[in-house]
Amino acid sequence: MHQKLDVAVLGGGIAGLTVAAALSRAGVRCEVFEQTRQLSEVGAGVQIAPNASRLLHRLGLRRRLGLTALTVEAIELRTGHDDRLVRRTVLGQRCEQLFDAPYYTVHRADLHQGLLDLLPPGNVHLNSRCVGVADGAGHATAWFEDGSSVDAPVIVGADGIHSVVRESLVADEPRFSGQTIYRGVVPADRLDFPPAEPKVRLWLGPDRHCVCYPVSGGRQYSFGATIPAATWHAESWSATGSVSDVVAAYRDWHPAVRRLVGAADSVGVWALHDRDTVGHWSGDHITLVGDAAHPMLPFMAQGANQAIEDAFTLVACLRRHGPGNVRAALRHYESLRQPRTDAIQRMSRGNTKKLHLDDGATAGGSARPANEDVLEKAWLYDYDAEAVVAA
Ligand SMILES: Cc1cc2nc3c(=O)[nH]c(=O)nc-3n(C[C@H](O)[C@H](O)[C@H](O)COP(=O)(O)OP(=O)(O)OC[C@H]3O[C@@H](n4cnc5c(N)ncnc54)[C@H](O)[C@@H]3O)c2cc1C
Repeated sequence: MHQKLDVAVLGGGIAGLTVAAALSRAGVRCEVFEQTRQLSEVGAGVQIAPNASRLLHRLGLRRRLGLTALTVEAIELRTGHDDRLVRRTVLGQRCEQLFDAPYYTVHRADLHQGLLDLLPPGNVHLNSRCVGVADGAGHATAWFEDGSSVDAPVIVGADGIHSVVRESLVADEPRFSGQTIYRGVVPADRLDFPPAEPKVRLWLGPDRHCVCYPVSGGRQYSFGATIPAATWHAESWSATGSVSDVVAAYRDWHPAVRRLVGAADSVGVWALHDRDTVGHWSGDHITLVGDAAHPMLPFMAQGANQAIEDAFTLVACLRRHGPGNVRAALRHYESLRQPRTDAIQRMSRGNTKKLHLDDGATAGGSARPANEDVLEKAWLYDYDAEAVVAA
């Protein structure tokens, strides 16, 4: 692209930083405006599937992920009360052979820092809370809490599930799922899991489940344990939790689960929200990415993966249509992203029940463990969010 686009990205989470890194790779000038005073990703680990890991590799993060992330050998579903294997999906080399990219688990802070290091110095403005945006002629404007404002031909709302940018485009509210999740990180030496085979383990039980996997090169295990809640009263959607609450909620579970959740020094608690899917999330010069566009429950572990896909499709559309055709680029971006994220958002909501077992029953009703072929996920993992734009 010969002419340079100026892009303002609002929000410096995984979505915003990936947009900025993909724009930087394409030689497009871009600045990120983040509300917090210090840039960080909280909330333990994140699973990065091949549909996103191949894109992160393209950004130049392969070596860095090789040092900090783990390549997952298998995903295992187990019963919560007796740790019996119910279903296993082999990943590892088979996944890399099929999809040319690994399935990673990584600490969020490592991924976030890796993305940040790809940006030119000074491109991220902290303490910049956006309070409103508006489409104009030939550009859009964003206003900030301190009274300052920025104009740009493209404004990207990457400001998460409670997006201010979304408010200017879509009239809806987040929906509480009835589930909270307690997340923590535990040093590996406090557990007796063999680190030789990195796995994602999910223990399932009535009304709740617990997911656990290694991060930080295997030195730590990240876990998330759901607990149902009728309502969520706190003003924020996340808060500091109490280890004793999660230990109490899992007191009847297998010792492996009890040891895991009890070994955490501290936990955070998140109220799990999503929104209903929508057909459009773009204006003439404004669009959304990540949770601002399609917040989903974490029950397919795809929210961040889809945010990374968004970033690549958006940047490829902006390049393809050129600086004079931003509106067409944003329509093209949305038309590619909406059907895919709509389906994944709905499936994630639908998985709420699938990840819970009725008292003592096994998922699917069979006493023998089922093997799921990762090929069944080809529609999800084999998707190339950049290549689809050229196609
Ligand atoms: C328990 C749990 C487990 C999950 N596990 C996985 C997983 O394994 N794999 C996966 O792919 N996904 C997972 N997800 C989903 C994933 O975490 C999210 O989809 C992803 O982090 C969304 O990134 P984002 O950048 O869009 O939003 P956020 O991470 O919410 O980032 C938004 C950023 O915008 C900033 N911001 C907000 N408002 C403003 C404003 N007005 N002005 C300026 N800045 C603002 C915020 O401070 C923040 O930095 C999980 C989610 C949960 C809750």
